[in-house]
Amino acid sequence: MDVRFSDSDLAFRDEVRAFFRDELGDALQRKLEQHVPLTKQDHIDYQKLLNSKGWFAANWPVEYGGTGWTPVQRYIFSYEMALAEAPPIIPFGVSMVGPVIYTFGNDAQKKRFLPDILESNVWWCQGYSEPGSGSDLASLKTRADLDGDAYIINGTKTWTTLGQYADWIFLLARTNTDVARRQEGISFILVDMQTPGISLKPIITIDGEHEVNEVHFENVRVPVENLVGDEGKGWTYGKVLLQHERTNITGVANSKVRLQKLRRKTSQSIHGAAPLAEDNNFMRRLAAAEVELKALEFTELRTLAAVSSGKAPGPESSILKIKGTEIQQMVDTLYMEAAAYYALPFVPDQYRLETDPDSIIGHDGETLTSLRYFNNRKASIFGGSNEIQKNIIAKHVLGL
Ligand SMILES: Cc1cc2nc3c(=O)[nH]c(=O)nc-3n(C[C@H](O)[C@H](O)[C@H](O)COP(=O)(O)OP(=O)(O)OC[C@H]3O[C@@H](n4cnc5c(N)ncnc54)[C@H](O)[C@@H]3O)c2cc1C
Repeated sequence: MDVRFSDSDLAFRDEVRAFFRDELGDALQRKLEQHVPLTKQDHIDYQKLLNSKGWFAANWPVEYGGTGWTPVQRYIFSYEMALAEAPPIIPFGVSMVGPVIYTFGNDAQKKRFLPDILESNVWWCQGYSEPGSGSDLASLKTRADLDGDAYIINGTKTWTTLGQYADWIFLLARTNTDVARRQEGISFILVDMQTPGISLKPIITIDGEHEVNEVHFENVRVPVENLVGDEGKGWTYGKVLLQHERTNITGVANSKVRLQKLRRKTSQSIHGAAPLAEDNNFMRRLAAAEVELKALEFTELRTLAAVSSGKAPGPESSILKIKGTEIQQMVDTLYMEAAAYYALPFVPDQYRLETDPDSIIGHDGETLTSLRYFNNRKASIFGGSNEIQKNIIAKHVLGL
């Protein structure tokens, strides 16, 4: 399969490239260049900027504010975004709950929530996992008991990414325990994080970051109109969301840009050492990662083409998730090896290469190389672990 860009694709590529070069604004650009962590407001401003160009909701139908891009345009956009090392789009609103609301929500919900997602006025987080209910999500215990015109929610959600910033959470809760299958009786509910009875506890990850949280619900009263779709059908809606989430985790464009950078750096000699390009074993593994990525790139394009023609991503999203995250971690490992002891945060000052950042083989700076490696161990776990994705493929693709 050969992807050839038409003249209009090339014009689009040039427009996107110019946008990321010229229009991000000095303050954001400086932070990106200096690898300064972005604030909540930085992310919001950036997403608003994308939306003002009509470039935010690539996965949405045009009638709800989607970009209407072809698969090739989506591919070009994500590649240019990675090339510019622009911030990622926070997925919880636009890539996760948005598609559930426009697919299964009622008109009032679409009117109330979709414009704020497009405008990034509301920060969403995802309340699926619970202590003891991760892979076996159908065992979840959070309850939503009907009381007049409200549900009373009790339970605990965990690993809630960026929940500390969130204005709203979408969650799966049990509304009925008297069911034949555990997947029945689960409902998909939208909850304002300011509702009394919600408390949040940070979980600090191995890289020292506050990225995830535990969220506790104690007699949290939520109006029934915040139920999406039918009561007890949340499992079906939640699965659709997961397929969008998994397709999103693949990260092909980022891996591609990181591999290109790494290949360029292999010809450099650092502090007089032989360049990595002379290390056949390393170069063989770099080439192997590039070949795997090329194959994944075409699989992703095929999936994007199907999604663009109106098909929801199916079990193939599990294939993309496994392969994409395996390659991401392969790239992380190559960077760690290439950076060697410069990758560690505790390298004594005299061995640091800060004065010449370009010579640092882990392009983010030697400290970030290891932090990124550790942080990204999550990639094969979240969105449903890779082992669970293999089970899905066995059942739904191979029919085993
Ligand atoms: C950084 C991070 C961010 C996350 N963000 C969110 C979030 O925002 N919202 C949210 O709801 N969740 C989030 N998660 C949770 C994530 O979805 C779960 O961690 C994941 O589903 C695995 O569940 P678990 O952690 O309970 O592990 P377990 O389910 O306890 O699994 C432990 C190990 O056993 C394996 N295993 C379990 N069952 C099987 C089986 N049947 N066959 C083969 N192997 C099996 C798993 O693959 C895994 O290796 C996040 C997780 C991480 C690490």
